[in-house]
Amino acid sequence: MGVELPVFANTPIEEISSTVDRLRKTFWTAKTRNVQFRIKQLRKLYWAIEDNKQEIVEACRKDLGKGFFEAMIAEVAWVQNDIVFMTKNLEKWCKDEKAPDIDLTNKFMNPRIRKDPLGMVLVIGAFNFPIQLSFGPMIGAISGGNTVILKPSENSPNSAAVMQKIMQQSLDPDCYVCIQGSVPEMKVLLQERWDKIFFTGSATVGKIITQAAAPHLTPVTLELGGRNPAIVTRKADVALAARRLLWAKTMNAGQVCISQNYTLVDKEVLDAFVDQLKIGLKEFFPNGAKASEDYGRMVNLNSFNRVKKMLDGTSGKIVAGGTMDADELFIEPTVVVINDPEDSLMRDESFGPLLPVLGVDNLDQAIYIANKTHETPLGVYAFGSKAETDKVLASTRSGGASINDGMYHGTIGTLAFGGVGDSGSGSYRGKASFDCFVHHRSITNTPGWIETLLKSRYPPFAGTNKYQQLSKILFAKPNFDREGNEKLGWVTWLFTLGTGGFFRGAFRALLLAGVAVMIKALIDRRTMSKVLPQS
Ligand code: NAD
Repeated sequence: MGVELPVFANTPIEEISSTVDRLRKTFWTAKTRNVQFRIKQLRKLYWAIEDNKQEIVEACRKDLGKGFFEAMIAEVAWVQNDIVFMTKNLEKWCKDEKAPDIDLTNKFMNPRIRKDPLGMVLVIGAFNFPIQLSFGPMIGAISGGNTVILKPSENSPNSAAVMQKIMQQSLDPDCYVCIQGSVPEMKVLLQERWDKIFFTGSATVGKIITQAAAPHLTPVTLELGGRNPAIVTRKADVALAARRLLWAKTMNAGQVCISQNYTLVDKEVLDAFVDQLKIGLKEFFPNGAKASEDYGRMVNLNSFNRVKKMLDGTSGKIVAGGTMDADELFIEPTVVVINDPEDSLMRDESFGPLLPVLGVDNLDQAIYIANKTHETPLGVYAFGSKAETDKVLASTRSGGASINDGMYHGTIGTLAFGGVGDSGSGSYRGKASFDCFVHHRSITNTPGWIETLLKSRYPPFAGTNKYQQLSKILFAKPNFDREGNEKLGWVTWLFTLGTGGFFRGAFRALLLAGVAVMIKALIDRRTMSKVLPQS
């Protein structure tokens, strides 16, 4: 391709503290509070990404063997699209919002919600979508009016170096800086007092981040991983399910946090599902995955060996794929039919192209195994009838879910994305990215003329009836009785015929009218039969 890439180099440790100081000072100058400044910065970032898109594609290829299509769709165009969306909406979002649920008396104080920047923010990226998962949250942090330090993953060094170059070319260096490094640099960064840390990565490191944030009570957003289940019932379209799950697991060679970690398939359709996976693999990679320009590689030898070990430890049967090449960090998409929910392929997050498939007797068993394997994964994927997929949603928990698809919800750039429980906390993307990096600051403004009304809040209180007077204005009466039933006011009773709801009241009125008509018809028949002569 002939694209020259910048060289990755760790940021000198001794520079980190002074850089952080500089960014904190900038924050207090209020430079980043100016909305037009933020928009301009984001627009410059857009064009620097555009100017360096060949470098990004090449860096992703070198780091992860990513093909052109995936690099453009999931990295370059993804973050550019995010910038366009943010810059189009930022002014609107930054405006003070009227506070909801304010009673009449307090409306005079004009309660509203201001969207304040948090301050100085640290964004830590993961290796697998190196650009998207670093620039994505950074775009949110810039939009929120913060100064930002980005620490990309050292495991995708080429992408990290290109990002640094892009930031240096386009962004104000007093506000936004890229710091490179691994654990030693992270340790120094984590000693600083941040106003927010946004972390994408493993749960293990997520705990380190949370502990480092605790002494300063720094809020943390954690985007972690999970052992995500896919469930295929006997009513599912197995051909469709197989292709959609293959798509989710072959993208980025399975190094996707929201792809399914395993699939639970009703035994009745297990063979058909496996056959469809085999056919699907041939369709996706007619000359085999290794020869395909579209199929990626493991990020490094550690990852390769970890996935290999999982596969070596399985007691299941490999029915498709299974080949590997350590020199190329290549692992073929591998379908394994397993028999044990405790199999090595179920115990850990594979973060690789493994497709373990476990037969189940019914949906209840699938739900039981899914919940037992991981109570709060990042995603759940259910294939089946509406009643079945509703049941899966109602009986499981997860950061997000896609019905009749693998990880589709995670591909919508403007849909809030995040984990729950140990798969993460907080969310971002679209408007949620802005909300993630601002403080919703409640503000009131008390006019002088209202003082006569407010005087009763001043002491002395003892010996007065100020409480009785004020409580009549301030506090609501319960609309429920001691059994927890709703009490209806007489006006509501009248208009809803005692049902409490307009439509239910209308329905009751119709029923009563129907009964009345029937009674009248009966009376009329009786009267007629008395009046008319019997034949
Ligand atoms: P990782 O936790 O190893 O690394 C993430 C970041 O943490 C890197 O920038 C790294 O430099 C830093 N780091 C590593 N060790 C550290 C330490 N001891 N102290 C301080 N910082 C440290 O994660 P990864 O290998 O880059 O990504 C894989 C994991 O991330 C998987 O579990 C995957 O599911 C998860 N992930 C989650 C999402 C999401 O959006 N929820 C996205 C991608 C990846």
